[in-house]
Amino acid sequence: MFNKEMNFLKANNKDAYDWLMHPSRPKHRWARHTFDTSIKVDMVTNNLVECFNSWISDERDKPILTLLEAVRLKLMLRFSKMRQVVRGLSNSITYSTRKRLAENDNVPFMIVIPSSITDFQVVDNGHNFSVYLAGEKKGCDCKVWDISGIPYKHVLKCIGYNRDVVADYCSEYFKRDKYMKAYQGSIPVLPDVKHLVDAEDHTVLPPIVKRKAGRPKLSRRREEGEKAAGPTRGRKRNSVTCFHCGCIGHNRKSCQGASVGSNKRNQTNVLDFQN
Ligand SMILES: [Zn+2]
Ligand SMILES: [Zn+2]
Repeated sequence: MFNKEMNFLKANNKDAYDWLMHPSRPKHRWARHTFDTSIKVDMVTNNLVECFNSWISDERDKPILTLLEAVRLKLMLRFSKMRQVVRGLSNSITYSTRKRLAENDNVPFMIVIPSSITDFQVVDNGHNFSVYLAGEKKGCDCKVWDISGIPYKHVLKCIGYNRDVVADYCSEYFKRDKYMKAYQGSIPVLPDVKHLVDAEDHTVLPPIVKRKAGRPKLSRRREEGEKAAGPTRGRKRNSVTCFHCGCIGHNRKSCQGASVGSNKRNQTNVLDFQN
């Protein structure tokens, strides 16, 4: 399946194919079917990092100790909040997992042919999928269940056929017990920094900071090829066209006049216009 689609891409867009297949982009980083099946994560985006980045956005540009203190307090609160969420779980599987299961279950007609109590052949839209609910081969041909740890549509149909409990087929990582374990620790509370006993004769002086030219940058450094940040809310700016020289990217006031072309004739024209 993967090779078929890649060949299709190769035939239609050789550049895109070469970009993907470049040795600096090994397949196990982006092609889900090659992911490690023991991790149970099928994410291919860096949303997690983006999310953290925005979570600390108010403190990101603060001095390191202020930043760390803010992160400490945020974590303290989050751990406590998550413990409350886990306590409130009525089901043995987490809320987001239940949501994903509902999405996976929302599929049209499929044919389920049992071979044994654990092995099934599922026909979905003309394609055959072998599903093994247990045993050494446990998994589905489409690999979604193997990699995500959450039963996908083919597996759900077989579980339904057996009238089994879906939760028993979810990875333990999506269950209440593991969740509880993840958040069972807590960040200790600390007294105010002003109450710390001063170490005599060991006054720590602030480091000598050399101020760099220009305003300190706030935005995260982006990787090469990463999309630039979009316009922030309420500050959408269309590209301007210069009334003076007709170029895009500056206006009449900031016009340098020379960007029309470097040849003399154009230069003279611009000057003529100014006079
Ligand atoms: Zn499947
Ligand atoms: Zn101009």
